[in-house]
Amino acid sequence: MEKMFFGMSVDDVALRHWSTVENFRRLVKFLSEEKAPAAFFVVPVDEETDKPFNEAFPEYVPAIREAHAKGFCFAQHGLRHNRFEFGIPPDMILDLPHEAENKRYAAENRAKLAAEHTPANLVPRLRQGREILEKALGFAIEGFRAPALQESPGMFEALALEDYKFDSSACLQETGWDYLLGRAEVPPREITRERWLALRKKSAVPILPLTCDYTWYLSEENFNRMFELAKHDYLACREASVPFVTVCHVDPVWNGCGIRLLSSLFAFARRDALEKGYELVFETLDKIVRQKE
Ligand SMILES: [Zn+2]
Repeated sequence: MEKMFFGMSVDDVALRHWSTVENFRRLVKFLSEEKAPAAFFVVPVDEETDKPFNEAFPEYVPAIREAHAKGFCFAQHGLRHNRFEFGIPPDMILDLPHEAENKRYAAENRAKLAAEHTPANLVPRLRQGREILEKALGFAIEGFRAPALQESPGMFEALALEDYKFDSSACLQETGWDYLLGRAEVPPREITRERWLALRKKSAVPILPLTCDYTWYLSEENFNRMFELAKHDYLACREASVPFVTVCHVDPVWNGCGIRLLSSLFAFARRDALEKGYELVFETLDKIVRQKE
């Protein structure tokens, strides 16, 4: 029987103003009940105090260890979650209203930033973040996602030099951000195996591209449009025989009807697998990447 992988992921664990340990625990509980093991991306350093996450927010350490023991995967989300620490975010993200200041900064400093994003500069940043997470949590960190999907050739090279097992910083469905910007008329991007393979070529480290976040402060009014996009992307990934990887964010998913969308999407995928007779496997990204393609 043909296999289809569903890789749930969650960003911004321990990011000040965007994640509380209560919401993190609620999310672990929800995903356990839904039998949807997820990969969580943790921010190693609190930018405001410059302290390691386990000193700034010690309450996350036992909560993460418990979730890890239950089979959830934990990976690295940048170093300080600064927009430019490993690369430059794509325009669709810099166009979001809360990114206005970063957009201006990127426009004025593009050349300088590109020159700064060399493997020699980025390897120590990667290493610092990974060591903080591994020391605090007591298990190996194998995966990486860059904050705000920033990227640079140097970042992908540095990830390979440091022997990360997977990266998930690339995206397949830009239309999700168009919707967030109120551009409701933009059609969904086509998802094909060719596009997926092209993204993977960016790095020697296997890249698991995500589609987009359908749950960001999701209002009732936008629920149907986002749910239609999520179903479209799931079916397109299935058609292209590539894993479906999506993301939500610790606080924003609870702020609106994001949880209801996820629940509906999990049910939709399970129903589709039953009807069409393929095996649907909910799995963490570290395990998906170990499967032969
Ligand atoms: Zn983030």
